Amino acid sequence: MASTAEVQAMTDAIALAQQALCPPGPNPRVGCVILAPDGSQVSSGAHEGAGTPHAEVVALQAAGAAARGATAVVTLEPCSHTGRTGPCTEALLDAGVSRVVFAVCDPNPQAAGGAEALRAAGVDVEAGVLEAQAQQLNAGWGVAVSRGWPFVTLKIAASLDGKIAARDGTSRWITGEEAREEVHALRAQSGAVLVGIGTVLADDPVLTDRRPGASYQPIPVVVGRREVPAKSQLAAREPLQLRTHDLREALRELFAHGVTTVLVEGGPTIATQLLRDGLVDQVIWYIAPTVIGGGLPAVGDLGITTIAEVERFDVTSVTRVGADIRVDMAPPAKGIKGGGN
Ligand SMILES: [Zn+2]
Repeated sequence: MASTAEVQAMTDAIALAQQALCPPGPNPRVGCVILAPDGSQVSSGAHEGAGTPHAEVVALQAAGAAARGATAVVTLEPCSHTGRTGPCTEALLDAGVSRVVFAVCDPNPQAAGGAEALRAAGVDVEAGVLEAQAQQLNAGWGVAVSRGWPFVTLKIAASLDGKIAARDGTSRWITGEEAREEVHALRAQSGAVLVGIGTVLADDPVLTDRRPGASYQPIPVVVGRREVPAKSQLAAREPLQLRTHDLREALRELFAHGVTTVLVEGGPTIATQLLRDGLVDQVIWYIAPTVIGGGLPAVGDLGITTIAEVERFDVTSVTRVGADIRVDMAPPAKGIKGGGN
């Protein structure tokens, strides 16, 4: 059982991971606290993103000789593969740590096995301490690395009747300033922002976080065979262009580029295809209190011919954002559907 000091250290390690600069990308947010045998905190560290040392290494370096016989409390199972920074299991063993307490098992098939390696070397290991809280640090990342393609969030901003543009194609500012501001924050939490080439040609989007002080920008991604016009605003940002109509393939390619979370911002062709192929993990739907009538629907034909074929989402939250309404939804958990109560 984890001691009170260890549970407190895990709370601190989670907070450290939350505060770290670690941008959304190939690496998860991780925090680590080193405890002396008497339960006092010796040092701590957090991971700041790909190419920088892992949290355990940061904390061990700060602890120096005091790590011998100490307990390492870490939010994620220490890695055992040799990446750019070397496996943390080795660093923990070299430092002479005698006990390791971690929250979440590593979902990455290439990096898992850290707990086993530590136990085999005689270290006392305890898993699952504050697991649910620590899981929240890297929810999308965990899903992505366990299956090999990014966590997909589909964002739609539409009128009450589900239209994203009027008949003449004008679509700017359907939702209000507050909702648009929120979308900038969503971009800041995503490894990539994805649109179809049709949206680039129609709307000429920039897809950046334009809030003051924004230091990180997601990778812009364009799907489709047509060329991104040299004069478009996006061309200057050198988007990653995936010349395919197979979105499953496009997502796997994104993952190979280190993208674990992707925000899909349009348009209807991409939204329709993602929904039809069951590739959406989360829907964030902004509803503007307006009716457009005729016009461009947010989603096209899904091949549904009768109401029984409709897939319902689970609503996870409903909030007012300025004059608009935001509904967060997730597809019903796969495997549970139709399985008893
Ligand atoms: Zn590591």
